[in-house]
Amino acid sequence: MKLSFNIDDIITGKSRLTDEQALELHHNASLHDLGSWASAVTQRMHPEDYRTYVIDRNINYTNVCTAKCTFCAFRRDHEDADAYTLEYDKIGEKIRELVAINGTQILMQGGMNDRLPIEWYEGLLRYIRTNFPTVHIHAFSPPEFVEFERFFNLDVREIIRRFRAAGLQTIPGGGGEIFSPRVRKRIGLGKCTGDDWLRVMRVAHEEGMNTSCTMLIGHIEFVRERIEHMSALRDMQDYAHALSDEATKRRSDGGKDSDVVIRRVMARWPGVFAKSLPPHPSSLRRSVASSLGCYTAFIHWPFQRENTPLGRAKEWDPNVYGPFDESTNDDILRGRVVRMAGADEYLRTLAISRLFLDNIPNLQSSWVTMGPKIGQLALFFGANDMGSVMMEENVVSAAGTTYRLEAREICRLIRDAGWIPAQRDQYYNVLKRHDGMDSPDLVPNPNARTRNVKKIDKQFIGSAPGLDDGADRSVKVQLPLLGEAR
Ligand code: SF4
Repeated sequence: MKLSFNIDDIITGKSRLTDEQALELHHNASLHDLGSWASAVTQRMHPEDYRTYVIDRNINYTNVCTAKCTFCAFRRDHEDADAYTLEYDKIGEKIRELVAINGTQILMQGGMNDRLPIEWYEGLLRYIRTNFPTVHIHAFSPPEFVEFERFFNLDVREIIRRFRAAGLQTIPGGGGEIFSPRVRKRIGLGKCTGDDWLRVMRVAHEEGMNTSCTMLIGHIEFVRERIEHMSALRDMQDYAHALSDEATKRRSDGGKDSDVVIRRVMARWPGVFAKSLPPHPSSLRRSVASSLGCYTAFIHWPFQRENTPLGRAKEWDPNVYGPFDESTNDDILRGRVVRMAGADEYLRTLAISRLFLDNIPNLQSSWVTMGPKIGQLALFFGANDMGSVMMEENVVSAAGTTYRLEAREICRLIRDAGWIPAQRDQYYNVLKRHDGMDSPDLVPNPNARTRNVKKIDKQFIGSAPGLDDGADRSVKVQLPLLGEAR
């Protein structure tokens, strides 16, 4: 396939994919080409002989939420019979179970509950820090922080400082969805703008905290809007790196002054800098030296429609609506039609994100939504990490996704793909390489599934024809469905 640019320069890191080139790849490149290019970049960035996973637990401390995202099946109002807010002890119980299976971190997010004061959050963080000092606290997504600003009447910088003092360590990238205002105001009712999402993460990085970032595809967004989303993340990562260089008086961006990078990013995304003013670089030098934060990982997944208001929208049919991207059809523009993303679209977007996000080191496979086999295939399309064993998950599963894997199964998927599985921590440090026979996937499984063979009457299948084993031919057997639970 003929491209209008030299893909080798992108693969080797000599040049950067532009927004237009990313769009060209999406529309014109074959899935196989994308996979091989993205794999080459992943090999360059992660030449190790292992691929990683983490053992954590999602804890959704409340399902009460002031927002009404149309893709959400999890939120409740205060008055709903099944609305909840977990007590500290209940959260402690969940963490104890996590520690018992060698889990190392919690991913704690909620709905946005306007009846919880800041002291409740600080108390919770202190409770976890005191009772589970080894468990990493990865908690509260940017939309929650933006609502906290309103609930507590404080700037996000102050809230992050207080939470950090109480035990918060990193911030998950939940609620990123798609930053484009056209999309966001239609699917994220009552949720923060894209600028505000990016602002919270900017401040977290300035305060020395690492974060992750996300994208939700396969709903009402155009491909161009996905690329704009990634472009904003790449720019803000440039900003984080440049600020860090400025703080330590290093140079970045191919020898250009980091100040030039900072000014370029501020000029392109003014809304991200309109509130929570950035600190002056000289104060950074005094206070934090080289410990500024950045995005450590990018994760994207397709919208799950079951039980959600958006899931009731009509599915895109080209014969009815014409082309989807850049459509002028009113139903498409207003988000009344969804274009769902299957495995092809998921992997295509993953590969392009690996080629595009050259400054974000880790890409996670989204097996929770895509299932184990596509989750494994993702390792050949740009992912270098299988994400989390995820002892508990409530939000995506409320929308119909039910995939669950144990460490044994994740390790097996990694090993079968040709790498050594390795358990990591939140900072992508390897905690344990699974080389030996004590690896989760190699130790004998006492609960292995077997076929449950039952004797059934004559009308069913008999022994193989011609098999003269002296067996009693009057007894017929039927093999039931593979994988029947014991
Ligand atoms: S996705 Fe999050 S912010 Fe949106 S309604 Fe659901 S719980 Fe609330």
